[in-house]
Amino acid sequence: MSLTHSVQQLGTETAFKVLAKAKDLEAQGRNIVHLEIGQPDFPTPANIVAAGKQAIDEGWTSYGPTCGQPDFRELIAEHISTTRGINVQGSQVVVTPGGKPVMFYAILALVEEGDEVVYPDPGFPIYKSLIDFAGGKAIPLPLLEVNDFSFDVEKLETLISDKTKLLILNSPQNPTGGVLKKEDLETIATLCVKHDVVILTDEIYSQLLYDDTFESITQFDGVSERAIILDGFSKTYSMTGWRLGYGIYPKWLVDSIENLMVNSNSCTASFTQRAGMEALSGPQDSVVQMREAFRKRRDFFIEELNKIPGISCRVPKGAFYAFANVSQLPLSSKELENRLLEEAGVACLAGDGFGEQGRGFIRFSYANSIENIGEALSRIDVFVAKL
Ligand code: PLP
Repeated sequence: MSLTHSVQQLGTETAFKVLAKAKDLEAQGRNIVHLEIGQPDFPTPANIVAAGKQAIDEGWTSYGPTCGQPDFRELIAEHISTTRGINVQGSQVVVTPGGKPVMFYAILALVEEGDEVVYPDPGFPIYKSLIDFAGGKAIPLPLLEVNDFSFDVEKLETLISDKTKLLILNSPQNPTGGVLKKEDLETIATLCVKHDVVILTDEIYSQLLYDDTFESITQFDGVSERAIILDGFSKTYSMTGWRLGYGIYPKWLVDSIENLMVNSNSCTASFTQRAGMEALSGPQDSVVQMREAFRKRRDFFIEELNKIPGISCRVPKGAFYAFANVSQLPLSSKELENRLLEEAGVACLAGDGFGEQGRGFIRFSYANSIENIGEALSRIDVFVAKL
């Protein structure tokens, strides 16, 4: 009995591993502050929950069209057209169980042996995992702290070759909270058009920006026919467990993605999509309230974290992650991840889990209450003082 090479190549998301470890410790009676998993701690807004319940009662419980319910696809197309300033049609929308399958399908459809894919490092770990899985060559694009976790566009140009098939962008970013600048996006767009590179733009945190307005690379000339937008409901509407996301694909790609869907999950849960209709068309106050709560937590967390000797952290501009530099401490980030969990009861993630450039960093998710964040900070402070 043996496993395929490609399956053995698969990476993982350490957030789920650390979460499981933290839950085990809790089951043993330990108190853990969770700053590891990237999910809002708020309940799904009541109007969305009510719409989901009603949909079950109304019988939205059978298979639906593979790419999603037509009225839902139209609504998403309208939403994307308005928020990105582009013209998207319902037929370009593929509704998926969460945002993750969008990257899975895009990479499976586009990347094969010998193709190169440029991806952000540090970045969401599934990008590299899937590139490797598909047999592609993963080319890391460094996001450096000195550049406020933006990347050097000139560096990007040196990484693009005639084998480059795909560029993956993510802004606001996981794990750094960094945001790509509009002028950089414009230059990247020109580069991708010039070199005939497809772009996967992961915009799952598009509504979680604290200072600037959201900018999508798809607004620039020639991009929409070569770009896949990934977005969804998990983060914006606190719907991680509903599993609801979508991809906006260029027309030439939609049929192949539909076929990948037919071959894997058939369709996305029908009642979940009705709840998604309410999320997009109903009142948006909860989105604003959650964002404001995250902003307060961010301000508090970063200010206090920077007071701990040996730790420094830039102010993240989006998402709900702080990527703290811990390279002055006498422990590797992996040791710190383990010992903060086991000895201090604070769950967080070593930056290495997000790529080579994450070494010497810890990702904290501040999607937790001010009270819990305060508790975590004092535990970290006491732990670090003893090193
Ligand atoms: N993209 C990024 C950058 C993420 O951080 C996440 C989740 O953490 C996803 C995509 C996947 O989102 P979903 O839970 O909707 O699959």
